[in-house]
Amino acid sequence: MTSGGRDVIICGHAGRPALSADIRKDRKTMKKKRTGLTIAIIIIVLALIGGGAYWYTSRTEYKLGRAGYSKEQIEAIQSLFSEGEQTALINSPAQPDMITIARSDRYQKEHFEDYLKDLIGGKKAADILLDYDPWVITLRADSQYKEENLQLYLAQKIDGTPEDAAKIINYINMSLLYADSSEYDGSRFEDYEAYRAKFPDLDPKEIVHRVNRSGDYLKEDYFIYAYLEKYEAYKEKNPDKTLEDVIRAVNCGIDKPFYTGMVTTDMSKGYLIIVNKYNKLPENNSPKLESLAGYGNGYMEPTAAAAFRKMVDAGKEAGVKLRSHSPYRSHSLQTWQYQFWVDKHGQEMADRESARPGSSEHETGLAVDINTAVEEDHFERTKEYAWLMENCWKYGFILRYLENSEYITGYVYEPWHYRYVGEEHAEKIMKLGITYEEYYAYYINNPDYQ
Ligand SMILES: [Zn+2]
Repeated sequence: MTSGGRDVIICGHAGRPALSADIRKDRKTMKKKRTGLTIAIIIIVLALIGGGAYWYTSRTEYKLGRAGYSKEQIEAIQSLFSEGEQTALINSPAQPDMITIARSDRYQKEHFEDYLKDLIGGKKAADILLDYDPWVITLRADSQYKEENLQLYLAQKIDGTPEDAAKIINYINMSLLYADSSEYDGSRFEDYEAYRAKFPDLDPKEIVHRVNRSGDYLKEDYFIYAYLEKYEAYKEKNPDKTLEDVIRAVNCGIDKPFYTGMVTTDMSKGYLIIVNKYNKLPENNSPKLESLAGYGNGYMEPTAAAAFRKMVDAGKEAGVKLRSHSPYRSHSLQTWQYQFWVDKHGQEMADRESARPGSSEHETGLAVDINTAVEEDHFERTKEYAWLMENCWKYGFILRYLENSEYITGYVYEPWHYRYVGEEHAEKIMKLGITYEEYYAYYINNPDYQ
């Protein structure tokens, strides 16, 4: 009977046995565990949400949107730019024009930073593209470049060297100037330019006019625009003559007979005066003179005399013997000599062999007959002549009366007659192989250059 409570439990008829303390303890533990799990789940879910949000907001797309780019712009940016460039776009005020720039043919990837900087600075996308374009940079480096013509230069579609740039710039600049003339013909651009090369100061409209007006005469070497009407008139009377012959005739004045329309020569030309059967010396002509003693007969103008002596000395070194046969002749001597020929052979023959007083180069003091003055001596067959042909220009002398040129010079071939014009012109004349009449007309007395 001392079993106590135990018996009560066993014998009790209450039905439900009372929980033991252990069980209660277990239940408590279970409950605690469940709560912990719930909290963990909540934490995980929250962490996931937070992570997702962080992931979402850290995406470039999101950042570009925040920076102010539209959905389409963002797509374009992502396809056009590298990650680093996209970051740069995020970190600057939105510049949608960068998309335009990147899509252009002129886009230079390496200049991304420059484009962006310039856009932010307020420049226009189109201008910025040009600023970094290598061809535009080349064009702009040319001294003739004009900004207002840039689009015309670019339309020429050549990307190349600075030489190409210079050509294009010149072509456009000059075309625009020529086109101011109502007569402008684009197909003659090269002709205009060739003419401008000779007359760089001439108004472009005048160039267009002259070139268009001149026709085939323009192709001739010694064409002088001022004489165009004379050429045309002479050609009409002489339809069989070539343009070259027409030009020569008019330039040299030989479109009229010798000794007609005689004028006093322009003495201001100095050593380059012309004296012939159209141009006579003034009545009072009396050049300074110096003796050629030791170098042959007579006198010459001092500068010409010094040049002659130098030439004779050089010839001597080279083994040729040169001496003055006949240099200066006074007006009275020329008068006497001409009369002598007239008396002997008549005026027609005298005019071929001698000069009328005032029309002889020998009266200038600048001319000299070397070694002889007669055809029969055939000076042209001597080594002296051969040496003179090679060397006379070095001393300022030219062969004055060329073979087959009597119709121009008015004199038969005189291999012995030399004229002082100075070294510079002598070299040009001897190398061109033209008569002094032709040279004088074009290079010394050309009205187009006055
Ligand atoms: Zn002579």
